[in-house]
Amino acid sequence: MAATRLLWGKYFQYDRDGEAALLDPVALNSCYLDRREVTDLSAVSPTATHDALAELGFTPDGPAADRREALRNLVLDPTPHRISGLRIVLTDRCNMACTYCFVDTNSGKPDMTEEELAEGLRYLFEENAGQDEVSIQWFGGEPTIRFDLMQYGDELADRLAVEHQVKRVRRTVVTNGARLTDEALNHFIRYEYGVGISIDGPPDINSANRLLLGGQPADTRIRGNVQRLVGADELHVGCNLTPTAANIGRLAETVAWIIDTLGLKFIYVNTPIPTGGRWRVNGRDLARELYEARLVALSKGGLLFSVLDRAFQALDTRRPMLFDHMQGDGTLNAAYLPGKRVSLCDINFTEPDFLFTLNELRHHPEVLGTVTKRIAPIPACGDCPALAICGGPSRNEQLLIGGDTPDPEMCAFYTETVEIALWDNTGVQ
Ligand code: SF4
Ligand code: SF4
Repeated sequence: MAATRLLWGKYFQYDRDGEAALLDPVALNSCYLDRREVTDLSAVSPTATHDALAELGFTPDGPAADRREALRNLVLDPTPHRISGLRIVLTDRCNMACTYCFVDTNSGKPDMTEEELAEGLRYLFEENAGQDEVSIQWFGGEPTIRFDLMQYGDELADRLAVEHQVKRVRRTVVTNGARLTDEALNHFIRYEYGVGISIDGPPDINSANRLLLGGQPADTRIRGNVQRLVGADELHVGCNLTPTAANIGRLAETVAWIIDTLGLKFIYVNTPIPTGGRWRVNGRDLARELYEARLVALSKGGLLFSVLDRAFQALDTRRPMLFDHMQGDGTLNAAYLPGKRVSLCDINFTEPDFLFTLNELRHHPEVLGTVTKRIAPIPACGDCPALAICGGPSRNEQLLIGGDTPDPEMCAFYTETVEIALWDNTGVQ
């Protein structure tokens, strides 16, 4: 059993079976103490352990800083510099009807037109003239329903890259895999796509939330198509896994199935979104299961990416990982929607606060700052061990939960991930 307490009013001490791990929640220093050192620490200072800790930067000297303020001072620039990638929402049409879909699918709204697509791509390349890379992600609904637009856009992107001296165009598509024509497969190979297939697990799990429009499962078809994609060396094929009530409790088994049976070695676990105003999964359980699933993936030669990596990276590099709204290089991936509108949040296509026209973005680039989250919005964040890894709910989460107060399951998730990463060998220095 682990217990947490504050050491010298500043550091979080996690006790487990007589041993302990220490965490400085702002500087992200961490350190492991064996049983003798834990006992030593409760003796009158200075002991050898006090001296050793002082060398590592853990000292009782000085008052406990205001952690929220200290963290805010560490942050250089929370405003994205430019949009370097577009998630292009070609259509809201889809051949599936997943219960948790955050897109309003098959609404009857018009698809993107060629002209709209061309204008969005022009904007992207103009903004990134001379840069090393831009990224394009085809998205829907099911984007392959408008494969004609993908072909048109890919050809245009190559021409725009030459015109604006962009060295590389990274292309990805997010698909449910239920439909894959030979023509689309050859196109993906030709442009060296990254293909992300949304699958939640073996048929009994997948069909809990992911069924075709007519209500029947598509697992046999999807499995056949995954085999065709995996067989193409030029493609980077991965699985986008959504944690649901059907796979939580079976995440490690699910990941093993995806690797062993489907042959997909890269698994990206989507971060829960508080749709309907709250997280629908137990945050603590999710963190623990992700850790277990990560180890299973590694043992099978696969890789599992999730928010858990944020905690590992933060502790490894001792740098806060506050911003999920932008890339590590300070640029933004935005969503481009039919009607020439851009959503600065690439997982929310309807919130008016995020929506801008291309002209507004061209003439008022400062609006990129509106997606920036307020760091540690509530006083409780100052007492939270996950402060430098979570930093508070994103703008999208704040809008979905209707205020600054974070979802308790989200907080449980982040605090658990910190503890897991701290005890993991890669975290404890
Ligand atoms: S396949 Fe994707 S777009 Fe279609 S309903 Fe499911 S989650 Fe939504
Ligand atoms: S986990 Fe919760 S309390 Fe902690 S920093 Fe994030 S939002 Fe604040």
